[in-house]
Amino acid sequence: MTEKEILGLFEKQGALLKGHFKLSSGLHSEKYLQCAIVLQYPDIAEKLAKLLVKNFSKEKIGVVIGPALGGITLAYEVARAVGKRGLFAERHPSTGSGWRPEPAEGRQDAKMVLRRGFSISKGEKALVVEDVVTTGGSTKEVIDLVKSFGADVIGVGVIIDRSAAKIDFGAPFKSLAKINVETFEEKDCPLCKKNIPVTKPGSRR
Ligand SMILES: [Zn+2]
Repeated sequence: MTEKEILGLFEKQGALLKGHFKLSSGLHSEKYLQCAIVLQYPDIAEKLAKLLVKNFSKEKIGVVIGPALGGITLAYEVARAVGKRGLFAERHPSTGSGWRPEPAEGRQDAKMVLRRGFSISKGEKALVVEDVVTTGGSTKEVIDLVKSFGADVIGVGVIIDRSAAKIDFGAPFKSLAKINVETFEEKDCPLCKKNIPVTKPGSRR
């Protein structure tokens, strides 16, 4: 599958919408990306996970880990593709102002930890995965977490890279597709200026 085919699949499934959107951050955009819409189909998730793993075929992966919530399904599928454990890191409520599901990316108020009896051994080779990377904040925290166990991060694999600038994770970084999602403050939004009705995706309205 090429990058174009992957983005075509996202559009076909309604995971990549074009229009005028108010994002959970409050910013406006003409594109909306929701990876979970695609990953809800196990056959597609399996296919994407296998494609992602191909980028790291020279590495001996010992464990796969992703940040909650976006990385949970993908970490599981990638782990299945390589026949290893799939873990997820999550923000511990006691380390911040409380657990909130969105937006996890870039939030610093609660620390990323391993819970539920998950552990990583010293020297274990970890592949860090995430569905979508924007700033890479959560992913970097997972990398730090893995390293805190004395384990090695052999790479970072994501389905969609929507970062504005190139991110340095200090490990090989591979994405299946790259998209540019321009965002605007409401007052500067060119779509608002054209009086195009705004929708809030993900909400029932
Ligand atoms: Zn607008």
